[in-house]
Amino acid sequence: MIDEDRAALPAHGVSAERVLGEIRELRGLDRPTHGGRLFAYVYDPGVAGLDELAAAAYAESAHVNGLDPTAFPSLLAMENALVGAAARVLGGGPGTSAPEAVGSVTSGGTESLILAVKAARDARPEIDAPRVVVPASAHAAFAKAAHYLRVELDAVPLDPVTLRPAVADVAAAIRPEAVLVACSAPSYAHGVVDPVEQIAQVAAAAGVRCHVDACFGGWTLSYLRRLGVPVPAFDFAVPGVTSISVDLHKYAYAPKGVSVLLHRDAGLRAPQYFAYADWPGYTMVNPVISSTRSGGPIAAAYATLRHLGDDGYLELTRRTWAAVRALADAVRGVDGLRLVAEPESTVVCLTSTDPDLDLFVLVDELTARGWHTQPQLAYAGLPRSVHLTVTAAVAPRVAEFGTALAEAAAGARATGPVVLPPELLALAGSLTPQALTPQLVAELADGLGLVGRPGPPDRMAVVNTLLDAAPVPLRERLLVEFVGLLQRPTW
Ligand SMILES: *Cc1c(COP(=O)(O)O)cnc(C)c1O
Repeated sequence: MIDEDRAALPAHGVSAERVLGEIRELRGLDRPTHGGRLFAYVYDPGVAGLDELAAAAYAESAHVNGLDPTAFPSLLAMENALVGAAARVLGGGPGTSAPEAVGSVTSGGTESLILAVKAARDARPEIDAPRVVVPASAHAAFAKAAHYLRVELDAVPLDPVTLRPAVADVAAAIRPEAVLVACSAPSYAHGVVDPVEQIAQVAAAAGVRCHVDACFGGWTLSYLRRLGVPVPAFDFAVPGVTSISVDLHKYAYAPKGVSVLLHRDAGLRAPQYFAYADWPGYTMVNPVISSTRSGGPIAAAYATLRHLGDDGYLELTRRTWAAVRALADAVRGVDGLRLVAEPESTVVCLTSTDPDLDLFVLVDELTARGWHTQPQLAYAGLPRSVHLTVTAAVAPRVAEFGTALAEAAAGARATGPVVLPPELLALAGSLTPQALTPQLVAELADGLGLVGRPGPPDRMAVVNTLLDAAPVPLRERLLVEFVGLLQRPTW
């Protein structure tokens, strides 16, 4: 039976008005993308009119195809302008130490990183089993790139206090098969800037490319420096840095679907391309993973950058930094909480120092009060933590959040820590990923209330505690199975 009320392909088309109403109704289930109450996933500058502008620009170019820049020069022009802007912000362009910088517009940070790894791998075809060296704090997208491209990942452990790798350890991890050394500016999890200068130096000494993952906060770091915040060198000003990624759909406040991958020169970029003429169809040359791609995100990003302008970003960064400092003070002001790292970018990361204050319960208590934060599991000696991505829209709300945080902490203490039923705890500790049957997962998901309800679950502490108790391979299997259960077609 087709559910005519919600089928994506109803027997008879429904009116534009009705279908838009349906989408708005569905959107009502989502976390709030605007208003500074969601500290992950979304980046809100809180600038009136910007959404409307970006949507109009998107609509202008939605049907333009990035497959062929000669057929659609509008897209080529906007892409080249975006790459130029990103290179400028990150220390490249005329009159800098990277005057020959080039780049590509990709669909997101993950695609930028996959392509940085691909370019590095394909520049060294003589290496049979290529390897990439990253700090353990590097974004998971490097692991995805390694997985997709059959490259080995060498993760360098972090110093538990500085949350950075020791440069000597990075140097030692560079084997003869290494094609790329990467680092973050800043890391997503903790917002910490890696020692880029020293890492680039050891990479260069070994004759290996060095990628700076500035996807999250590289854009803002440049502006923070201009505001007088101490920011170590992390961009093309650093000798040995061969490529940098920066997500325009993060702190450049563009709608989703735009990142830039920069290379110091065109020679370094060349192995990123894929060209194919050995078939009877059109000759194909792709700088990025997608072939057909919409001009919508590119036009929207172009409109966003031009409308906000350099002075706009400086002002948004000033507001964001004030919010970061106020949030850090709020954390310091709550007994039993501490900052995992002193903020040096636009992340505030906190943890609990009190066994009676369960961080996952705190997250739920904040959710119940309308504040959505991101829990991070304990990992390799690092404690559980809560991540806050801070954007300009948070600035007017920091006092309110401070009150909510104190109340949520009191609420979490009153509720007490999650105690998993012993059989569940034993299961998490002993189960191998192979032993996890679809039926077991379905029962588990049902018991945890994860399926068959509209909207995000309100109480996630038990699920997070279960994942936290499980070894990494089991965590991964559980995640795949849980999400696989959610992703079922509706008929
Ligand atoms: C967000 C992020 C990525 C991945 O970007 P997506 O746009 O989500 O694909 C990579 N690296 C860092 C540091 C990030 O913050």
